[in-house]
Amino acid sequence: ITPAAQKMPGRYGGRHTVTALAGDGIGPEMMEHVKGIFALAHVPVDFEELNLNSSNIKQGENDLQEAITSIQRNGVALKGNVETKFDDPAFKSRNMELRKQLDLRANVLHCSTVPTVPSRHTGINIIMIRENTEGEYSGQEHTCVPGVVESLKIVTRERIEWISHFAFDYALRHGRKKITAVHKANIQKLGDGLFLKVVNDVSKLYPQIKCDSMIVDNASMQLVAKPQQFDIMLMPNLYGNIISNIACGLVGGPGLVSGVNIGNDYAVFETGTRNTGSSLIGKDIANPTSFLRASVDMLKYLGLSEHADMISDAIFRTLTERMVHTPDIGGKHKTSDMIRSVRDYLQEEMDLRK
Ligand code: ADP
Ligand code: MG
Repeated sequence: ITPAAQKMPGRYGGRHTVTALAGDGIGPEMMEHVKGIFALAHVPVDFEELNLNSSNIKQGENDLQEAITSIQRNGVALKGNVETKFDDPAFKSRNMELRKQLDLRANVLHCSTVPTVPSRHTGINIIMIRENTEGEYSGQEHTCVPGVVESLKIVTRERIEWISHFAFDYALRHGRKKITAVHKANIQKLGDGLFLKVVNDVSKLYPQIKCDSMIVDNASMQLVAKPQQFDIMLMPNLYGNIISNIACGLVGGPGLVSGVNIGNDYAVFETGTRNTGSSLIGKDIANPTSFLRASVDMLKYLGLSEHADMISDAIFRTLTERMVHTPDIGGKHKTSDMIRSVRDYLQEEMDLRK
């Protein structure tokens, strides 16, 4: 993701203001850890904290609108996930509403294996780029007659073109070599057919980058069997959701990978698999890595790469040198052990730079 510091509206006197949406589950705990680490590292970021969670849903949509207005003002947000009930068809996912209203068209995850973190494969290093607003997430469903439901998957050339250019530009900027378009055009001939055709057309404008395609079922199998073959995977919305989660699972699960939702104007940073981790609240066992990495990604985007690298190194050394591992990755350490170690490394680095 290219630093967008130049067009950041929420920036005064060298400091940045970003929207903080802690969300549900372990989100609030994780946000506190980020705030503590930013303070220790003298990160010039101020958080505008807003409540967007499932407990204040009865107050209507105001909190969602406030969150959106805040992000429109600041340009950037760090976000925990908001719980979505799926027994009530009238209840729309507010995570999805936020992404749609801010037009955050791309979801980008970087799934790579971390040395010392147990995983079935080594050498995975894949960028997952997912269309984030349309397709199966168009939200157009209705019962035609009892027992018959229409659930529409709407795709547009405009958004496929946008995400294709985004992916190829990303490849160029980050030194990636190959893009694999994932689809099911053999069955969804029009919908996925359009996706495949547009990706192929756009690829001709980027002769430096190899482009191939794979049917989503085969891609799933290939991913778990030989993940090293993938460089960038470019996917429509629902396949992207599922395939990204498989990739996160391959490199250590929900506690490790961060993700960003990004459009032409705004960027919202969150954990890669968008979980709430509600069963982990208050237990001091959640892996804070994914949330911390989301905050690091945000700093890079803001152009604060020195702070980002310092925090990122501290996380990496905590996982690899000290092997501070929470239970989700097979360890016995607490969240607080990991945070303490990250802070130690940071302090060490800060002292060296004095
Ligand atoms: P959802 O948000 O889809 O309901 P959950 O919040 O239940 O999903 O998370 C899915 C699984 O991932 C759960 O087993 C949860 O404990 C685990 N999980 C989520 N986040 C973390 C984390 N940060 N560290 C460790 N485990 C996590
Ligand atoms: Mg949950």
